[in-house]
Amino acid sequence: MSDENRRRARVDAARARLTQWGDPVLRTRTVEVTAFDDELRALATSMGELMDAADGAGLAAPQVGSVQRLFVFRLPSEDPAATGPRAIVNPRITAASSERQRGPEGCLSIPVVTVEVERALAVTMEGRALDGSPVTIEAAGPDAVVLQHELDHLDGILMLDRADRDERRRAVRLLRELTA
Ligand code: ZN
Repeated sequence: MSDENRRRARVDAARARLTQWGDPVLRTRTVEVTAFDDELRALATSMGELMDAADGAGLAAPQVGSVQRLFVFRLPSEDPAATGPRAIVNPRITAASSERQRGPEGCLSIPVVTVEVERALAVTMEGRALDGSPVTIEAAGPDAVVLQHELDHLDGILMLDRADRDERRRAVRLLRELTA
């Protein structure tokens, strides 16, 4: 097997373990985390491993079938070799730029499809680390896209919901064909 085929096989195996478009858990609003315990850390660790195996930049709890309010991520601007996946619990956006950006997005829970989505260019996100201590992340550009996409997952919102109507229709038609 070539390196590329090996990578493809690893990505496919990881994606097969994630909840996929059509699963109602992806439409569920998650529940605030109150216990910052070993169970939460174990969940975040396994989510981080799956995200990396799937070559993703972010993974939210509903994508592994959990309704806890957390996601893991790697900011695109950061050196992937320098840090492991990070987690944020009970995140919320406390400031967003009025300036917007527009670009294609994909999702580990939605096969094949990418759609153009408009988002805030910069956001400030506050939440908790896995030990319960407060965290603030300031992000712009692609980093801000990752944070907004993952936060949406915690509210049952998918990137398709944020696409233009025609693009959403095209994407849903393709998805129905793929999953028929
Ligand atoms: Zn997603």
